Amino acid sequence: MSILTQHQNRLLTAYSNFPLGHYVSLIIVRKTQSEALFRTEGAGEDLSKEFVRAGEQDATILQRVVITKRKQTAVERRTGRELLRDNGLLYAKDERSGVCALNRNNACERCIDCMLYGYAVGGGGAQKSRVITDDAFSLLGAGVVAAKRTGNALYDNSTMRDPETGTPSQAIYEEPYVKPETHFLEIETLKDVTLGEWVYAMGNVLRSTRYGAVSSRQGRIKNALAGVVFSNCEIFSNLELTQRVYDLLKAKDPELNFPLRDSDVLDATAAATRSLMARVASADPLILGLEDAARLQRAIVGVYRDPERVAALLRATERGYATDRKAAEAAHADVVRLLEAAGEAGDDDE
Ligand SMILES: [Zn+2]
Repeated sequence: MSILTQHQNRLLTAYSNFPLGHYVSLIIVRKTQSEALFRTEGAGEDLSKEFVRAGEQDATILQRVVITKRKQTAVERRTGRELLRDNGLLYAKDERSGVCALNRNNACERCIDCMLYGYAVGGGGAQKSRVITDDAFSLLGAGVVAAKRTGNALYDNSTMRDPETGTPSQAIYEEPYVKPETHFLEIETLKDVTLGEWVYAMGNVLRSTRYGAVSSRQGRIKNALAGVVFSNCEIFSNLELTQRVYDLLKAKDPELNFPLRDSDVLDATAAATRSLMARVASADPLILGLEDAARLQRAIVGVYRDPERVAALLRATERGYATDRKAAEAAHADVVRLLEAAGEAGDDDE
């Protein structure tokens, strides 16, 4: 059995208009792989930062860099929509609308993106997003992970002096940035999703690489799955997780030298997840740890390797929105069959 289908009873077999309280939380470690800039519109030129407690045990006040929630899902949505567009799975709502596009107020109201990440259109139609995120915090303080660079813009002759007049450049700029190998922790909560939607959302997380301010200042990010939690309520917050992980890392190494090691961060994140779940009042929660998370990641890679299988999977996921219960359940069976076939064909090490 594939790790992807093993826990299908925790997910929905068909899309429901009414909330059922099936939560899947993806515990994600995001690591910058180049300089990056995260800021909110209107906050000036600086990075988004907040003062918070360093940990629960370590009550020092620490300023952390923040990746705002919208910045994260917007990137992942676009990653998924590329795939839908490439497979002809974005639609026009009517003859006048044009094909479903972000920020154009012409949501098609039936593609996987509209249904999963939500839409609102003037004139009534709305679907609440079933992908819930929160601001993500840097594990270490802004004083360590962020820096500022000042410089002068160069002239054509690669100097700071005008080639004709010889006057020095006045174009001095100051740029804040997040250093490479900075870790951020994020819980992405999927609510009442089907099996196909779960795989689609995880694919979007693992396939997204460019986050941060638009234009040339987007930083490269690598997302890793540190765990998955199935529950019937929301679990702990990004901040609680960040603080608990900080405490665990600090107990191991009081210096906490930057950059942190990936394996230390992943181990601490998995341990913090297990211990924080003790506070969560969910019926019968299921926590998948590091090993299962790595298997899930490999299984997703296997699924996405075959474009025809992905296309069939997306079509079956979309058929899960059928109002006819039987049709939706048949679509679910197709999703299960495709994922199992991917597991057998690929390197899903079951
Ligand atoms: Zn749409």
